[in-house]
Amino acid sequence: MGKRGASFSEFASLCSELEKISSNISLRKKLAKYFKGKKGRTIKYASYLILGQIGPKYEDLAMGFGTKTMVKILARTFDKDEERVRKLFKKKGDLGDTANTLSKRKRSSLKLKHVLDRLKKIQKTSGEGSQEERAEEMAELLQDATAEEAKFIVRIALENMRLGVGEMTVLEAFAEAFTDDAENKDVIENSYNVCTDIGELGESLAEHGMKGAKRFSISLGRPVKVMLAQRVDKVSEILEKIKGNRIAAEEKYDGERVEIHKDGKDVQLFSRRLEDISDQYPEIVEGMRKCVKAKKAVLDGEIVAYKNGKIQSFQKLMQRRRKYDVKEYRKKIPVAVFLFDVLYVNGRSFLKKSYPERRKKLESIVNQSTRIKLAGRKVSTNFKEIKKFFQKCVDKGLEGIIVKSTAKESVYQPGNRGWLWIKWKKEYAEGMKETIDAVIVGSYHGRGRRKGHYGALLCAVLNKDKDRFETFTKVGTGFTDKDFESIGKKLKKLKARKKPKRLKVKKRMEPDIYYRPEMVIEVLGAEITRSPSHTAGEKDGKGLALRFPRFLRVREDKGPEDITTVREVRQIKK
Ligand code: ATP
Repeated sequence: MGKRGASFSEFASLCSELEKISSNISLRKKLAKYFKGKKGRTIKYASYLILGQIGPKYEDLAMGFGTKTMVKILARTFDKDEERVRKLFKKKGDLGDTANTLSKRKRSSLKLKHVLDRLKKIQKTSGEGSQEERAEEMAELLQDATAEEAKFIVRIALENMRLGVGEMTVLEAFAEAFTDDAENKDVIENSYNVCTDIGELGESLAEHGMKGAKRFSISLGRPVKVMLAQRVDKVSEILEKIKGNRIAAEEKYDGERVEIHKDGKDVQLFSRRLEDISDQYPEIVEGMRKCVKAKKAVLDGEIVAYKNGKIQSFQKLMQRRRKYDVKEYRKKIPVAVFLFDVLYVNGRSFLKKSYPERRKKLESIVNQSTRIKLAGRKVSTNFKEIKKFFQKCVDKGLEGIIVKSTAKESVYQPGNRGWLWIKWKKEYAEGMKETIDAVIVGSYHGRGRRKGHYGALLCAVLNKDKDRFETFTKVGTGFTDKDFESIGKKLKKLKARKKPKRLKVKKRMEPDIYYRPEMVIEVLGAEITRSPSHTAGEKDGKGLALRFPRFLRVREDKGPEDITTVREVRQIKK
């Protein structure tokens, strides 16, 4: 290691070992062993790269390479015919493995930092004529690498490491390596919900141990994970669960969650996946500049499609959620934001303040306008009034209400789904079960009318403890022809040759095609049972399963790590 920094070859051989391991505990142990004793900076770089990232999630750092371009780059790097590379890729099923076979190099002097820096430089190279430059730089980097290194550089460039390591595994490995106690994982996870930069967190833990987990607070430009709401089955349960004798109920809007960071004229909007979505909603950015009196602030709210004083459907908003033709769509589908929280004002964090204090502050710093609004609400000590308010919301066409605790301890809990916020929707009142957000992991070929399309989709939920996806249901109904087409088109890009490593599936459920777990859909089911066909929270050979599932909608606003967890499914089943 020495002065010159950690070698990339050690990192690449770690990746090779991880690739062979399937048990989550062994993955964590192996990773912890690598982290232990390394310098803070090394931990930082390695944590990004192990997840196939070159920096924190909230920075827009997509490498932007597709498989076609990578085939061309490999042909150029190793001076081979493109057709030959394509054939080899077909045989291997992975471009990293293809590079590994093509490269003959056994030694290199690449450092972890330099690989990261070079990849960052390539990422930043954009604009006209940049394709050539990007390809050239990538080829040079691959030529400097050993066969094993090339394999993982290619996978990082394609943002698909195939190691079976998710964020949770990295956080657990931090706990084991730097605090000698895997139990510290929960504190570290909470810290990650505030800091959201896994590299920075790892560096801090390596340098300061558990003290390093407590150093983070909210800061401008770095989004925290948003606070989430619990659900109840009966309306009477709300009163049992909520603390404080006064109850606040807010209108619940069906749109896209947004965390807004305002720093003078600079306004950044982050989605709940921590993506920067500022360019998609210019009217919100402009509105924030005008309507928020505080120079610096972080606000939480929901963006909805909003025309002529009326809130429009979630589907409408999803049509607006686009990177291109924003100008045209801004006119077609205008939006508004309903603000309901404030997390930071002029250098002061409001995370530890109670909800009533935060709401008061929010009201004092916002001038409402057509595009910038405050969430409507009712505060009362009388539950009958809250129920009346709920009915009024439903009559207005809203989804329902979010009941919020007004107790002293009603702090803002980043990333947490606790009892301080409880959602109550009209669907629950009508006796319908809660919907599930699941990730598509496979499909079965269709027959008859659906020939050439998928017939059904295999969907999974997230097992957070094991940091993997477990199958839960097979969805074949609820799709319109249009859904079929648009989902099919998006899935094509996610096709995987082999079962993704973080997926647990029963032999009898193996699909015709596997997909990288990326695309999230919302599903409604009749009942949750135990079934030998599924793996979700498996016990005695039977997993949790959703019966009679129905596709409701695609959830572009959610990523695979935001879907319904096994623990939540268990709770709904009760
Ligand atoms: P979740 O956000 O709980 O994972 P979800 O995205 O499927 O689930 P719901 O279960 O329908 O959404 O409800 C919670 C969401 O409602 C919040 O995440 C937020 O985006 C939205 N929301 C709308 N109005 C409010 C409000 N007044 N206060 C808090 N959240 C609200």
